[in-house]
Amino acid sequence: MVAIIGAGPTGLLLAGDLARAGVPVTVYERRTGTSNLTRAFGVHARTLELLDARGLADEIVAGGARIDSLRLFDRIRLDLSTLPSRFPYLLITPQYRVEQALERRAIELGARIVRGAELTGLRQDGGAVTLEFADRTEQADYVVGTDGVHSAVRTALRLPFPGRAVLTSIMLADVRLTNPPEDVLAVNAVGDAFAMVAPFGDGWYRIFAWDRRHQVSDDTPVTLEEIREVTRRVHGTDFGLTESRWLSRFHSDERQAPRYRIGRVFLAGDAAHVHSPAGGQGMNTGLQDAANLSWKLAATVRGKAPAGLLDTYQKERHPVGTLVLRSSGALIRMAMLRSRPARLTRNAVGAALLAVPAVTRRAAGVISGIGIGYPGVPRAADQPLRSGQRLYEALREGKHVLIAAGDFPGYRDRLRVAAPVTDTDQAVLVRPDGYVAWRGPAASVSTMTAWTVA
Ligand SMILES: Cc1cc2nc3c(=O)[nH]c(=O)nc-3n(C[C@H](O)[C@H](O)[C@H](O)COP(=O)(O)OP(=O)(O)OC[C@H]3O[C@@H](n4cnc5c(N)ncnc54)[C@H](O)[C@@H]3O)c2cc1C
Repeated sequence: MVAIIGAGPTGLLLAGDLARAGVPVTVYERRTGTSNLTRAFGVHARTLELLDARGLADEIVAGGARIDSLRLFDRIRLDLSTLPSRFPYLLITPQYRVEQALERRAIELGARIVRGAELTGLRQDGGAVTLEFADRTEQADYVVGTDGVHSAVRTALRLPFPGRAVLTSIMLADVRLTNPPEDVLAVNAVGDAFAMVAPFGDGWYRIFAWDRRHQVSDDTPVTLEEIREVTRRVHGTDFGLTESRWLSRFHSDERQAPRYRIGRVFLAGDAAHVHSPAGGQGMNTGLQDAANLSWKLAATVRGKAPAGLLDTYQKERHPVGTLVLRSSGALIRMAMLRSRPARLTRNAVGAALLAVPAVTRRAAGVISGIGIGYPGVPRAADQPLRSGQRLYEALREGKHVLIAAGDFPGYRDRLRVAAPVTDTDQAVLVRPDGYVAWRGPAASVSTMTAWTVA
């Protein structure tokens, strides 16, 4: 049995994938009810592709608002509409909608979710892990800590979480606006303050605001007046702000665990890395951790993994966590630039750089996740198949997909074989998480055996 600690987005995606692969899986969640808090509200293109490979993207996209260009710091515009993806935009939708879809899928596929179960400790020997709860212990073959920033699993492993606070006293407000901005996502910064405004698509708007002049502890209540004042200072208007449904103050850290695996225990999502909210990367990165780990863990539990497969989780995902820390950190530091000349330079240089198509492509690729691959393992772009399906539909079985013309009887029981639309003598093996495991002449498919785990 695999035990997952924490039913946030990372744990729920992982649970569904393991259950789909026939692996017995239980999620232990501290909370007794489900969450309707909208923490993350941006789902990037690569995450939508992963959700597409689970049959969930279309319903999530239908309930959200699409943003095809990001306006940063007045004149800087990042175009997402040319992303080479079925989803060339940022989707604005509340985190709880993504969680609801992932939870429904996990339960339908047979995952068990136990609520009101708070992990207090764990210990492992070579063969199993013992989980400690207030009222009982449980045994598992493998454990994944997806229990968020204050992870009890990380603490039990005695892993440090080095880093630092980057921003304190950030204000969050979900509000109604009578005169909303024309730009779907409006972000601006004026030295002493910044504010971002984005729509949920249902009449409510999310404002993130920060004011260098008013730094207080996280438990100091936020007032609508405070939000109004900062928004006016930054954007020149409060957009007709009327009422709020959620006001909160929080701080943001940049931290990363040095190891994502110790023996039979793994970390994923916020338990493994946290960063500033700039770029909206947290939930997205966690979901991608889960998609990377799930098929490797399933193959291992089923005794089908080649030696070393589980170690590639750390090798592939740890550097991506570091990259996200750096890129979201750079964005937040740019937003916080204090002096006017520095801000003018930022705006001019940023606008000039993003006028260069190659720079725009690279920036959009990193922020959307579309441009992120692993060494020697690039992302597989969606493509039509001769069967009439698309690649990401074929991936919904959770198996490797071999795109090749011809008959491969030795592989049919282990992976999905799909003919390409156009005739070619080349073959591509796509991993269940949508990355290319192998590419070569169809005649040499038999040389790829090391990765044909089902
Ligand atoms: C204000 C705000 C705005 C954000 N905006 C964005 C955004 O736009 N885009 C984006 O991608 N990300 C955003 N994020 C970050 C995003 O919300 C997180 O990265 C995401 O929720 C991480 O998911 P997770 O599943 O790893 O952890 P979590 O969502 O934190 O889930 C962890 C779960 O574990 C449970 N748990 C904790 N301890 C235990 C225990 N001991 N035993 C059992 N269960 C336990 C918790 O109850 C929780 O349900 C934002 C965050 C905040 C705070």
